[in-house]
Amino acid sequence: MNLRELGEFGLIEAIRRRAGASHPQWRVAIGDDAALLTPKPGEELVFTADTVVENVHFRWRTTDPKSLGRKALAVNLSDVGAMGARPLGFLLTLGLPRSVSGKTLDGFLSGLLACARAARCPLVGGDVTRAGEFSAAITAIGAVTRGRALLRSAARPGDRVLVTGRLGAAAAGLRALERRKRLTSAELALAKRQRAPSPPFRAGPALVRLGLSRCAIDVSDGLVRDLSHILDESRVGARLALESVPVAKGATLDDALGGGEDYELLFTVGPRAPSAAVIGNRLACRVTELGVITRQRRLILTRAGRPVAPIARGYEHFKASSARSDK
Ligand code: ADP
Ligand code: MG
Repeated sequence: MNLRELGEFGLIEAIRRRAGASHPQWRVAIGDDAALLTPKPGEELVFTADTVVENVHFRWRTTDPKSLGRKALAVNLSDVGAMGARPLGFLLTLGLPRSVSGKTLDGFLSGLLACARAARCPLVGGDVTRAGEFSAAITAIGAVTRGRALLRSAARPGDRVLVTGRLGAAAAGLRALERRKRLTSAELALAKRQRAPSPPFRAGPALVRLGLSRCAIDVSDGLVRDLSHILDESRVGARLALESVPVAKGATLDDALGGGEDYELLFTVGPRAPSAAVIGNRLACRVTELGVITRQRRLILTRAGRPVAPIARGYEHFKASSARSDK
């Protein structure tokens, strides 16, 4: 795959061939002026965009084209899932330096399209442009039953706060990558979580289907900050037990609270919903209960039932340690 030989149209043709058939809901995908989607009655459509730019969101020194392709789509799938929607398809806008190698393009597309197939989220269109640095802008589209989307504004006092998976691995992984030393196998596993996250993007739609939740956010900026988005939008507070936070192996509590890019799902359920273990079984992933939504509009972190002053634990410190690549 050589950009100089293929040219723009050759590249689009190659992408089209590799993307293969789209979902039946798309009447027209790649190849016309625009893609054509037939929505199902009773559903609302979800749109989200996320871009990765060389030297802003990633460096080739700490990642590889295949991982980057996976990640570019995965972060969009995470946002679609956090709305409770199932993915329908995505658009891809590539910004390519003239010097981009065939190996880079090929690796990027294979990582991206493998993720697309696994998620049943076809590539249905996009654009290609010359650019100073490599970038990939993705717009993903999803669908959710009308009125049932998971909203940041829907948390209510008394609701319980839960999270999927374990937190902090991506931040610990990025730290290991930036040390520029040979990685141990444990560090490699963490680095992989940072380079090519696999968000539980089916958990959101499952919560909607089971009628368990109305409120969710994906943990992209760190637990404290993302929970704060829910609290702000819902005009509520929360009490969160620090000892309940599921810290990934090899990560610290600070990584879990303040490190970004874990792409786990943070959500609330009503007071009478089943236990975290039962919900975890239904979602087919680990689910941990962290605390409760309160009427008083403050986030209180507790240890052994007692509030821990956020300043003492370093709220700002969380910010400084938030290892969101290079932004
Ligand atoms: P136009 O000039 O109408 O914008 P293009 O030549 O840019 O058309 O695109 C032709 C077709 O190829 C369109 O269906 C478009 O969505 C698709 N396409 C262009 N770039 C990409 C890409 N990076 N990935 C997938 N499809 C693409
Ligand atoms: Mg175009």
